[in-house]
Amino acid sequence: MEREELLASLSPRVTDERVLAAAAAVPRELFVPPALQRLAYVDRPLPIGGGQTISQPSLVARMCEQLELSDDDVVLDVGTGSGYHAALLSRLCRHVYGVELDAELAAQAARSLELAGIENITVVAGDGSAGLPERAPFDAINVAATATGEVPAALERQLAVGGRLIAPVDCDGHEHLHFVRRTRDGLERTLLDAVRFVPLR
Ligand code: SAH
Repeated sequence: MEREELLASLSPRVTDERVLAAAAAVPRELFVPPALQRLAYVDRPLPIGGGQTISQPSLVARMCEQLELSDDDVVLDVGTGSGYHAALLSRLCRHVYGVELDAELAAQAARSLELAGIENITVVAGDGSAGLPERAPFDAINVAATATGEVPAALERQLAVGGRLIAPVDCDGHEHLHFVRRTRDGLERTLLDAVRFVPLR
């Protein structure tokens, strides 16, 4: 599938023009291993090494839309992997902190982001399930690896009032995206689509 075809296929599922523009602006081939570059614009996840995957473009776009980002927001991306999802987020907000457990993937993501000319992302190698307390609170938190049972409490704690979080969670073998919004009164939780991500380790 060519780039234009993929972008056109997003528009019934994703309606936010800013998200569509972000998807159009990020060259996914820079975030895919050289041997798989011909598949960069097929709407599916692809292996990126270390048993991990770059997420499916349509899912990345939908998750970005669900975070309701604005230009001033500071965003935490947990499980940065290739850096592709962070790259889309970065076009919709002020700054992204990306945390990736695998140090090699984190280094590769930083290189890909530099090649893409993206300067408002800081990639940190480490355990993102603890969040990034020294940079909290965040206006939005994106998680790209599946937690078991519930959204990690440390991440919920690092949401600003008005902040939004989206994370895949496996409850009794059923994996869904969970959406959390922090209001002045506490946390509002919504269950979204069934999905499949690699596990949060
Ligand atoms: N958002 C990525 C998808 C990567 S797959 C992209 O667009 O390419 C999920 C990633 O989460 C993997 O790279 C995996 O190494 C990472 N991961 C798993 N557990 C983690 C943890 N506790 N902290 C940070 N990253 C983690």
